[in-house]
Amino acid sequence: MRVVVVGGGVIGLLTAVECVRAGAEVDLVEQAGIPSTAATSYDQHRVIRTLHRGDPLLSIAAAGLHEAWVEIERRLGGRFYHRTGVLTLATDIEADLALLAGTGVPVRALSGRDLSARYPQLRVRPGQNAVLEPAAGAVLADQALLSAARWLRGHPAVRLHSPRRVTKVTESASVELADGRVLTADSVVVAAGPWSRALLPAALGASLTLKRQTMLSYSPSWFPTAWSRSPAVLGLGSTGDAWLMPPVAGTPVRLSAASACRTVAELTDRQTPGTWRTHLVRRFASLLTAFEPAAVTGATEGYYLTDEAGQGPLLVRLADGVWAFAACGGMSFKFAPVLARALADRALGDPPRQTGLESIDLPRQLTGDRRGAT
Ligand SMILES: Cc1cc2nc3c(=O)[nH]c(=O)nc-3n(C[C@H](O)[C@H](O)[C@H](O)COP(=O)(O)OP(=O)(O)OC[C@H]3O[C@@H](n4cnc5c(N)ncnc54)[C@H](O)[C@@H]3O)c2cc1C
Repeated sequence: MRVVVVGGGVIGLLTAVECVRAGAEVDLVEQAGIPSTAATSYDQHRVIRTLHRGDPLLSIAAAGLHEAWVEIERRLGGRFYHRTGVLTLATDIEADLALLAGTGVPVRALSGRDLSARYPQLRVRPGQNAVLEPAAGAVLADQALLSAARWLRGHPAVRLHSPRRVTKVTESASVELADGRVLTADSVVVAAGPWSRALLPAALGASLTLKRQTMLSYSPSWFPTAWSRSPAVLGLGSTGDAWLMPPVAGTPVRLSAASACRTVAELTDRQTPGTWRTHLVRRFASLLTAFEPAAVTGATEGYYLTDEAGQGPLLVRLADGVWAFAACGGMSFKFAPVLARALADRALGDPPRQTGLESIDLPRQLTGDRRGAT
């Protein structure tokens, strides 16, 4: 079989790997480089965690992701999955502990006193506790993409087309390129991330919402030891919507919050407006002890599409053999290994393997929620 995959972000790259492993020939088309530095996936790091608070089905579906990423790392080569641990702060953690215990992933409860002792860089509020997932962690996302691109580049069944922009996906499983060429295949998978709307039927594209979120890069001088051992931290702030990514393999700390996520009409630049930078600086001044504004060394923007109505399927069938992962959402990186398997099975006409995601109203839960990206 010949499959055309559109998009060189994490979903497109891992889908291409899955298709090749199943014996298919793959044309991977990317409008920029492979991988693309403009892709939402191409960033410092992404959190891989099991606990999704208030969402038991999504948490259960996420329980196998650590092993999935270890396997991806082994297969592609490279060192990009770091088990930093993931800490989720909350006042009431009983249900979270029970949920995680049920999934079989290692979990530990930390009291407010434990938190202050172990993580002096965090400003712990009265009544706050936390759930620590010691085996969870962070993928160095850009490194993972580079490893996948290297694997594909070295495979005789793969043809890479970059920089080549797809202008149209037809119902007969072909794609038209901006230079006038047409690639025909048995199946097409569209994994164009936040650009997907341009390649989807108009009504479907119009049902998706484009989000833009600001993140700060932070290189603190205080508490160097505590920062070097820091897990990813979620649930910061009285509304629990702020998060930080730890310094992994020399990267700066990343700071963000759902309050820095907004709906936008178009995917434009990645320059952070001063108001959004100031917003996050003010928020983290109250969330971190000894916060140093001068240690904010940069700011960046990420885009993603959501299906806020949650009425469409997660994997959209556009025609016979034509599939799209349309609403990439703000939490999909971690699920990329299973989403790629699911897309490859559909593209190749194989019986879909179980992913753990089948019973979930995923467009809403995975991509359409209003909690911002993590
Ligand atoms: C700030 C932020 C933090 C996040 N944190 C996390 C996290 O901690 N954990 C997590 O699991 N998820 C997280 N996410 C979500 C995650 O990053 C995305 O869901 C995921 O990276 C989307 O991958 P993708 O491959 O679908 O899209 P992308 O990575 O954007 O890739 C799409 C690719 O398609 C290409 N393309 C588009 N149109 C065309 C065309 N017409 N022709 C050819 N090529 C085309 C693009 O150039 C791009 O390379 C976060 C997102 C943001 C914004």
